[in-house]
This record gives sequence, structure tokens and C-alpha cells, in this order.
Amino acid sequence: MRKPAVFLDRDGVLTREKSYVLRREDLEIFPYAEECIAQIHQKGYWAIVITNQSAVGRGMLAESELLKMNEMLYARIGVDGIFYCPHWDVEGTFCNCRKPRTGLIEKAMEEFDIDLEESFFVGDRASDIETGKNMGIRTVLLESGYGSGRLEKEIEADLVCKDLAEFTRII
Ligand SMILES: [Zn+2]
Repeated sequence: MRKPAVFLDRDGVLTREKSYVLRREDLEIFPYAEECIAQIHQKGYWAIVITNQSAVGRGMLAESELLKMNEMLYARIGVDGIFYCPHWDVEGTFCNCRKPRTGLIEKAMEEFDIDLEESFFVGDRASDIETGKNMGIRTVLLESGYGSGRLEKEIEADLVCKDLAEFTRII
């Protein structure tokens, strides 16, 4: 079925922001996340996670452990898809999937029938907002992670919300 998507960053949006989450025990899912995903579904959107996980490329996080974390997210909060960039950009050998690049969204669009025009990108960092802008979709900055205090650049989201629960109430 063709539906718009709410693209969600993981850390700071669905889970508590930590510098690195290297073991599944460290993945701290926000208590409201499950209800938010249910709301997103009820309102007619896909819930799709788009996340940079460069700790894999740095050799700090085994990809198998990341896949276990993904299984936890599918099982506990019911997201539809999780797309991650495991790469660490060294020596300018850029992949096309690390946010703010749009490769992961393009991949999601191959697997899901997405009405992009009505979609949102929700995140807590400048790279998230840039990703949304690069796709030409509406952007939402959450203050539940790094928030505006940690925006690396002057960049303006279409909407600023305290957390995902506030966003899902108003869409
Ligand atoms: Zn990548």
C-alpha cells in the first residue's frame, strides 16, 4: 500500500542518545516509543528508521550485534524497516548512505511504497534535518537527543518538538 513515511533517526529519537551504543544492553528505548510507532501507523504512515552507525566501520561494534539491536526495535516497538549506514568515512571515500546523504532513503523506497511528498524526516541532529532537506521533505527537530543545543550548523527544521511523543500527537 502506498503511504507516506515518518523517517526516524534512532539515537535521541527512539532511544537515549549516548556517544556510542555498542552492546544491546546499552540500547535504552524511550518508554513512549512503542506508543508513538502505534500512533504513526494509526495516522497512516510507515515508520522507518534511518541511522548512521559508523561504530561498525570503526571496528567498535560488530554488525551482528547491531542486527540484534535491530531485532529488539522490530520486536519491542514495531517499526516497519530499519536502514543503517555502517560506514566510516575515511580519506574521503564517501559512501552514498551516510546521512546527510540520501542513499538509505532511496533504499527504503525500493522496499516500501512511499508517498515521499507527504513524508517527514525526524531527528535530533543537523545531519538529520539536512537529509530531509536533501530529499525535499518536511523536517522535524527533536530536543530529546542532542537537540538544538547540539546543532552543529545553522539549520532550520520545519518543526521543532520536545520529543517524538509531542510530534506524534500533532501529525
Ligand atoms: Zn554508508
